Formats: sequence, structure tokens, C-alpha cells
Amino acid sequence: MMQQMSFTSSHLATPSVAAPAVKVACAIGDEEAEAATVSVIRQPGTGDGAEKLEDIQLDVGESHLEKRTPLEPAELTLQKSVLRNGRYENPWPTWQTLSMARVLKFAIFSMNHSNIPDKKVLDETLPILKPDFDLLAKPPENGIRTTWIGHATVLIQMDNITLLTDPIFSERCSPVQFIGIKRYRSAACQVDELPEINAVVISHNHYDHLDSNSVRMLNNRFGASLRWYVPFGLKSWMQDMSCDNVVELDWWEEDAVPGFRGVKVAFVPAQHWSKRTLTNDYKVLWGGFCVIGPWNRFYFAGDTGYNNTLFKEIGQKYGPFQLAAVPIGAYEPRWFLRPQHLDPSDAVLVHKDVQALQSVAIHWGTFNLTFEYYLEPPEKLAEALRKHNLTEMDFFTLNHGETRLTGNDYNRVN
Ligand SMILES: [Zn+2]
Repeated sequence: MMQQMSFTSSHLATPSVAAPAVKVACAIGDEEAEAATVSVIRQPGTGDGAEKLEDIQLDVGESHLEKRTPLEPAELTLQKSVLRNGRYENPWPTWQTLSMARVLKFAIFSMNHSNIPDKKVLDETLPILKPDFDLLAKPPENGIRTTWIGHATVLIQMDNITLLTDPIFSERCSPVQFIGIKRYRSAACQVDELPEINAVVISHNHYDHLDSNSVRMLNNRFGASLRWYVPFGLKSWMQDMSCDNVVELDWWEEDAVPGFRGVKVAFVPAQHWSKRTLTNDYKVLWGGFCVIGPWNRFYFAGDTGYNNTLFKEIGQKYGPFQLAAVPIGAYEPRWFLRPQHLDPSDAVLVHKDVQALQSVAIHWGTFNLTFEYYLEPPEKLAEALRKHNLTEMDFFTLNHGETRLTGNDYNRVN
């Protein structure tokens, strides 16, 4: 018995992009049905009217994403990492190396507009919620469950796996905890409160993304059952921290996560850099991660500037994603930070380029790293979304500690 269903992909301009009809055929299908015809419809956010793109055949319980035919590697130009004289490079003209003159101009002559208020005001403007740990004890049956711990630390639960991105639970992002940049919003929880974590992805070795205390606490609690995904060049540092289960990846390399059938982690490029000591600039690679499951696809951008090729490559190779975690903060002054950090309007371009159905904003509201007003990132994000006819459903912010389930039946029209 056949059943007619349709889905809409509300803002995606690429006709071949499929909506995330995760288990929808199963959910709506007649119990007797073994297959269903599904129409993929593109419906621009402005309400210009729906346009039917294609009909596809799905078995009951099968996801639309699985039916999408990925581009063969031969058809794709994927930017490889570039290592010269022991240091990695950003192979795009949009990169600009940080000269000492520019760093000094930034430090001495730029105005800091961050204006972080006192705790009472912060508790109103950026409340920290207590995560619901009973809910988080297990991954959701459908979709992707996201909990923002703060900065780029996100708890992601999907396809029976629980992951953390760039974990930092410490008070300071610094080599030592008595001096350095202090957080103005605490982490929403501590390591001992977390549900069981199966994998951690680390985008690069800057102190606000790789925190030795957090690595030590996670390793103490979970040991070798926790799989660490790190960029090329970082494995020996992780081993020095006594982490055993470490996978070091180059751009576009993948690893099937043992014990999680159908789930793989891929490392992808970012336009950024690395440094942890006085002299080790660019010696360890940097990047983002894709987590590809049998039902859901998640993209973590890490820390990056914008260019108009790399995110499109990620979208073509691994998209569409039910969810992307994209940085929106730490961008002023632009003359200095544009090569290495997205601003909110760049973040919306990333959301579109990687073919994310929804995105969650990260890398803001936690550490006073740069000079924009502390509440400006979400305000500018709302403006940028309006310009692209997108809504705060498409690209959302969370409170610290807040959880949201996405991708279960987003965009389903009937
Ligand atoms: Zn960084």
C-alpha cells in the first residue's frame, strides 16, 4: 500500500537538498504500508509559494536523508590541510596572519564596548538554567537534543550517542587558574553532573576550547570509555594528560565510532589558527567536526572566520545537517578579527552554506574575549536572519543550561 506525503525544506536554495524526514514515513505511514512516495518541496521563508522538486521512494521507517545521493568525492574539490616547515597554514586568501603590529594596535588602540554589567543584571539578561539531568540521562529517540553549557561547550545527544564539544568548565581560559580571562557566566553544570559522555570533539588548542582541567576531570570520570577526537598534532598532548582513547584526524578524515553502529565523526576545515605556548603557533591543526549518524547529521563549526568556499564544501560533502552549532561572538574589532572569527552575519552565511536546517548559536555570552557589547551577538544575529528571510526558529540562541530538541519532525508539512 502506498501513501502520499510531502515535506518542505523551508529555506534551502539547493534543489537536491532533502528535508530531514527522520522516521516520518514510519510515523505517518499506514501500518500495512511498506513503502511511501514522498515529495520534496522547496518553500521559501517569505511565503513565495511551494515548488515541488522531486518525488522519492521511501521504505517505512527509512529517513529521507539516507535517500539523498551524496556527491562522489571525484566531483568535489575538498581543500586539504597544508603543512609547511612544521606549521599548518590557512590556504585561503581571506586569511591574514596576526602580525605583532596588529596585535598591539588591537590591544592598545581599540575601544572595548563589552560593558559587562554586575551579576544582578547578568542574572536577568543571561540567566543560567539548571539542566534537567533526568531528561539528559539518555539520548532522545528522535532528533538531536542540544544543551548549551556555555561558550563552545555543547552537550549533543543523537542516534544513541552523547557527545561534548570543546569542553571548558573552568573559571578561566588560561594556562593557569589564578590569572587570565575569567568567565562572567559560570558553566551551567560541572563534569560530575553530566550524563555518560561517549565522545568529545576538540576543534583546536586555544585555551577557551581546550581546557586542561576539564580534560583531566572528564578523563578521571570516564577513562578509556570516552573517545577523544582531536586535530592532527594534538594526540601527544592528550596522551600526556593520560587520555588513552584518542583519535587524531586530518581534514576530511573520518572515524566510525566503535560501539555506535552507523555513527561516524569527520574532521573538516576551519579558517583559524592554533597556539598554546610562546612558540607553538600553527603547529597543531584546527577545524570543525561533522557527526554523521544513521538518522541525524550534526555540524560543529569550532572557531572560524568566513570564506565562501570551505563551508560550501562541508555542505556538499556531508550536508544537509539537522543541526549546526555556529559561533556568533568574539568578533570586534572586525579589522583585526574578521579572518579568525565569524560575526553574526557571517554565521548566517555558514548556516546556509553547510545546508543546516537549524543552527544553534555558540561562542558568546561567556568569556569577555573581544570588544563588542556583550549582548550584541544575539541582536545582530536577529538582524542578519531577517535579511535572509530566516527566523529565530532556523538559527536560535539558548540560555546557558537550556536544552532544545530539534530535527525530529522539523519542516514536516503533513
Ligand atoms: Zn580559537
